[in-house]
Amino acid sequence: MALSGLEIFKLLPKTNCKECGQATCMAFAMQLAAGKAELDECPYVSDEAKAQLGEASAPPVRKVTIGAGDMAVTIGEETVLYRHEKRFENMPGLGVLITDQMDDGQVDTLLGQLKDMEFNYVGQDLRPRVAAIRAADGDKLAALAAKADEQAGAALVLISDDVAALKAAAEPLKDKKPLLYAATEANFDEVSALAKELEVPFAIKADSLEKLADLGQKAVDGDFKEVVLDPSSTTLGDVLKDQTLIRRAAIKKTFRPLGFPTIGFPCDMTDDKLQEAVFASTFIAKYAGIIILSDLDPARVLPLLYLGQNIYTDPQRPMQMDEGIYEINDPDADSPILVTTNFSLTYFTVSSEVEASKVPAWLCVMDVEGQSVLTAWAAGKFVADAIAPFLKKSGIEEKAPHKKLVIPGYVAQISGELEEELGDGWEVQVGVREAADIPKYLRQWSEN
Ligand code: SF4
Repeated sequence: MALSGLEIFKLLPKTNCKECGQATCMAFAMQLAAGKAELDECPYVSDEAKAQLGEASAPPVRKVTIGAGDMAVTIGEETVLYRHEKRFENMPGLGVLITDQMDDGQVDTLLGQLKDMEFNYVGQDLRPRVAAIRAADGDKLAALAAKADEQAGAALVLISDDVAALKAAAEPLKDKKPLLYAATEANFDEVSALAKELEVPFAIKADSLEKLADLGQKAVDGDFKEVVLDPSSTTLGDVLKDQTLIRRAAIKKTFRPLGFPTIGFPCDMTDDKLQEAVFASTFIAKYAGIIILSDLDPARVLPLLYLGQNIYTDPQRPMQMDEGIYEINDPDADSPILVTTNFSLTYFTVSSEVEASKVPAWLCVMDVEGQSVLTAWAAGKFVADAIAPFLKKSGIEEKAPHKKLVIPGYVAQISGELEEELGDGWEVQVGVREAADIPKYLRQWSEN
């Protein structure tokens, strides 16, 4: 049964040495109780305390890392069933299937896409990171895995029923933490022994949740922590049911045999590319940790990455920019001054339109706790008597002394009051409501 923060605290050294990254042992205890820290992070826990705390402090869904460096994918570590209860922790890793049935050209194309495909959206770099290599033959599996590592640095899922083939491919790359796929009823002992020997994660696979739980129990009994579950779902209904039941069992019942992240293979569930995207989006919405696609068409990968980003953003902490003055298109003393809020989406929408206008401009971004313009205005945060002091202390007058300020069209009503608050010859101009109209507005502004 889970221990409370106070119960955990009683078993800690209470020296407040901070080596765990927390200010106090109590803070560390609270993090442990919430499943947000690992006991190993405190180097001073006694063996006796470890025995008592070890299982109680582990997150209900174990953390698993596959791959290394920039392409590493960390999954699991989840503590809630619904995002609004707190937040989801680790965005699923998207990947592509590569098989020994593909010719060299296909493999090179997929690995090239995996290496180069990256999208920046509201300040976050999003990309697929996983290559799932499927081959029966050990030499082919090893050759393809080495190629995927060398050409794309991908996080690897090694797929074979043959344990010797898994060993041949995984051993040279064990430092890259490939995922061995998969231990089944037939070969659990061999695959788990290989995972233990190489210190890499492994997947367990069964065709029913009951059998999956039995294998999960074997993994728990064997003290395996880096395990990934595949419930072998074949229909959309199964995906919803299996993923939900696994997560519910882990979170609500702290049922350790199913307390691991999952993997899904939309690539194997349909030949229809759009339907595959629907399967993949369902896996993303319903808790999967790794999702393997049949190709990396950006038209499907990009929306899937955005979906993951949306779901895995902390709902209590809007994505936000640092307050400050942002220079766009190399502005000078005569360039227009715009002001907006520090909600990331607002910033990136406005800044990309300003950039597209090719008009040099100063964009003053005010900290309103990550709210959009209208929300911040309604909350009394983006109002005249807050904006004026922000601009005065921002230093914009030294950079552009013309004292003409453009405010978003949606807060036109504050223009008079803001002009009064700013005083000292400032002129407040009402800009456009829609970001798409910014380029035209700025070009006209700079011609006047
Ligand atoms: S490292 Fe251990 S002893 Fe030090 S503050 Fe953290 S919990 Fe306390």
